[in-house]
Formats: sequence, C-alpha cells, structure tokens
Amino acid sequence: MTDCGCDKAKAELEEFLHNELSEQQCSDIREHMANCDDCSAEHLVGITLTEKVKQSCQEKAPEELRAMIEGAILRADANA
Ligand SMILES: [Zn+2]
Repeated sequence: MTDCGCDKAKAELEEFLHNELSEQQCSDIREHMANCDDCSAEHLVGITLTEKVKQSCQEKAPEELRAMIEGAILRADANA
C-alpha cells in the first residue's frame, strides 16, 4: 500500500472535491482518507461546505461557515 500522506491529501482535497484530479490521484487520496481520520474529517467538512455554498448561494465568510460546520460535526460525534 502506498500512502500519499496528509500533506498531499490536504493539498489536493479542493481539486478532489471538484473532480479535477486524475483517476490515479483520486484513488491515492481515497486510500489515504480510508486510513486517516484527520483527512477524512477534513473531506467531510469540504463536502458539506461545498454543498452548503451551492444551496445557499450566499456571500458568507468561508471561515465562519467552516467553523459552524465543524461545530455541527463535533456535536454529531458527541451524540453518536
Ligand atoms: Zn491524513
């Protein structure tokens, strides 16, 4: 197994979310996330953020929105 590492996974996460990576790059990142809670959480936030932005189409500070979503995920984890 070749793990691409957190740095690469996080650096390419944005492109991954927008389906801008090659098959090989996607599978590298998927493989890494399967073994890395940190990056898979980051990915989940990214997906949620992308969807939220699409839904709302509002100009909201990304950092604020991100903090809000991270808080919601933490609360969901706490209730699990
Ligand atoms: Zn990682």
